Amino acid sequence: MIDFHCHLELYRDPIAEAKRLSKIEVDVLAVGTTPSAFLGTRRLCLEYTNIRTALGFHPHLAAQRINELKTFDELIAETLYVGEVGLDGAPEHLKTMDQQIQVFRHILKSCSAMGGRFISIHSRRAAKVVLFELEENQDSGVPIFHWFSGNYRELRRAIELGAWFSVGPAMLKSDHGRALAAKMPKERVLTETDGPFAAVEGKALLPGEVGNAYIDLAKIWDCSFGEVANRIRSNLRTLERSALVCRSDSESLR
Ligand code: MN
Repeated sequence: MIDFHCHLELYRDPIAEAKRLSKIEVDVLAVGTTPSAFLGTRRLCLEYTNIRTALGFHPHLAAQRINELKTFDELIAETLYVGEVGLDGAPEHLKTMDQQIQVFRHILKSCSAMGGRFISIHSRRAAKVVLFELEENQDSGVPIFHWFSGNYRELRRAIELGAWFSVGPAMLKSDHGRALAAKMPKERVLTETDGPFAAVEGKALLPGEVGNAYIDLAKIWDCSFGEVANRIRSNLRTLERSALVCRSDSESLR
């Protein structure tokens, strides 16, 4: 199984989770919310090759932590993965939109300067502006929209940009989420939990708990659970074998 957007550090016992995930062979992208948290999370995960640690700067914290951009730039050489980054246009976050954009733009430029990164992106109610920023910074790497919730036209723009998508059980609960997933190119879809933020039936998803997403994708793609599992696994392999990785010293950048 693949959980390509999980806040591993926010669970009570991340080390126990990392051990469990490695035993059940779940590949994970452990996303972060602040640059200063990156080294701690990576230290926990370093011995588990199935866990990649992303350097994050969550849009909800962008305004308050804007002085951590320096830390972000100091750390970006340490990993191929950036996230969670992006913009949030929900009413309660609109007042920080200027700083959010400043932070996101800075991050995209830093990714470009490094030759590109895999970028796990938050775009709630802000897909249009996120797309604009990505279009302006096309050499920033491979954008992976996490829990994409824009409209069809925005989805089309994201696909044209070469973006990937990570979809999870919470997103696929909604009709709109499933309709979007059905329009995503199969070969650019990964799965995620977004745990512990995302919950299904009132329970926060555990790291790696993507089974329901596989079941929903099997219905959407009209294929078996096993075929979904193979497809997602081969997608991840393709992504990580992309030019971006080949260009750099990938093994040391987990
Ligand atoms: Mn998240």
